Amino acid sequence: MRVLVTGGAGYIGSHTLVELLALGHDVCVLDDFSNSSPVVIDRVHDLSNGRVILVEGDVRNDDTLKALMQDFRPEAVIHFAGLKAVGESMARPISYYDVNVNGTLRLLRAMDKVGCKKIIFSSSATVYGEPQYLPYDEAHPLNPTSVYGRTKMMSEQILADWAGSDGRAAILLRYFNPVGAHASARLGEHPDGPPNNLMPFIAQVAIGKRARLAVFGDDYDTPDGTGKRDYIHVVDLARAHVSALDYAVENNGSQAFNIGTGASLSVREMVAAFEAASGKTIPCEVTKRREGDIASMQADPSLANEKLGWTATHDLNDMAQSAWAWQSANPDGYSKS
Ligand code: NAD
Ligand code: UDP
Repeated sequence: MRVLVTGGAGYIGSHTLVELLALGHDVCVLDDFSNSSPVVIDRVHDLSNGRVILVEGDVRNDDTLKALMQDFRPEAVIHFAGLKAVGESMARPISYYDVNVNGTLRLLRAMDKVGCKKIIFSSSATVYGEPQYLPYDEAHPLNPTSVYGRTKMMSEQILADWAGSDGRAAILLRYFNPVGAHASARLGEHPDGPPNNLMPFIAQVAIGKRARLAVFGDDYDTPDGTGKRDYIHVVDLARAHVSALDYAVENNGSQAFNIGTGASLSVREMVAAFEAASGKTIPCEVTKRREGDIASMQADPSLANEKLGWTATHDLNDMAQSAWAWQSANPDGYSKS
């Protein structure tokens, strides 16, 4: 299949490229490298037999989209390009609505012009907001508590309306917490500045870049008092996109899927797993709760298991070991190819 991947140089996109190329798909990447590096694409090529066509540009640029659509004629799109920092979204809401919602609208319009009818969208478990029950299933009400979450919910609604006719399909993948890295240690997550997320922060403490982990509260209603999340290995997540592509080809309309393992782990459990994988001690200091944090989040992934034929196969040890292998082999991220 000819697949356009927006944001393909990013953390999740790059792992997905490897999976798509391994299956022999023709892949075009559109990325403006606002949060990634072209070196990523070199590394994807080193790990693959195929090559991607790279277009450097902004997903909101109609001229870029038009030329790309006419030249490449994608049969399906995987739409990763977007802004993803929850805190920043509250400080810069217009940028987030513009890139995430307007970017999605422009992409759909460009797809319509060439009759491309299938899209896989990067949504997030954050669309659910404060849990009314756990694990979340896809029918759980949507009540996001941040601008970022609202951009994902609005994009989902636009995509569902778009997919309502003419043989179109929009698959909305609600990711839980992606962690870990490619087994080669050549691809991984490289945050710009201090990491917002737990796993990259722990990795940077382990390598000596940061003195200690701030544990954001140990007085939650959880067994050890720290926050619990459903962590999903990035390679499992990448494979969910490949399964979703097949599903989109065979089905019309829109469908949301939770992409998680169905288990949740506390901050303390993540620290212990990382210490075991790295052989390093992670100094921790309990601080106050982070504003807006939820005590526990957990997916019910049974719909994806059933309908996509997809299941997470990597365990906590794989997550911690691959994250450590990536961090120790690339202390400065993608500084060289
Ligand atoms: P990332 O920042 O590593 O990747 C996003 C990519 O999109 C980057 O390469 C960036 O340069 C590119 N990009 C950003 N704005 C663009 C624009 N206007 N035009 C073209 N390219 C642009 O992020 P990621 O972790 O790989 O996340 C991918 C998607 O998954 C995002 O939409 C994100 O919101 C969503 N998501 C991520 C997580 C997570 O924890 N990583 C969780 C849920 C959902
Ligand atoms: N967390 C923490 N210290 C950090 C980063 C995160 O204690 O430096 C906690 C956070 O409160 C949450 C869990 O780790 O309970 C996962 O946080 P992350 O930001 O990775 O994911 P999200 O909260 O967005 O699901």
